[in-house]
Amino acid sequence: MPAPERTLHPAIPRVTCPRCGSLMRLAQIGPAFADDGETETFDCTCGFTYNHTIRQARGSGHSDPANAA
Ligand SMILES: [Zn+2]
Repeated sequence: MPAPERTLHPAIPRVTCPRCGSLMRLAQIGPAFADDGETETFDCTCGFTYNHTIRQARGSGHSDPANAA
């Protein structure tokens, strides 16, 4: 059973590089290109870059005005 790594912030997901298998580094967090949410940019020592977009459900989805009262 591997010991948990306490050096990483729990809010930051751990991303493994698909090219070399190393743990990627969170390089930048910025707004998404479209829709609401934000894009996390990870990069690796091998030069591979990975963008992960987190979408935030805002203003869509479960809206039930008939049940508001
Ligand atoms: Zn890599």
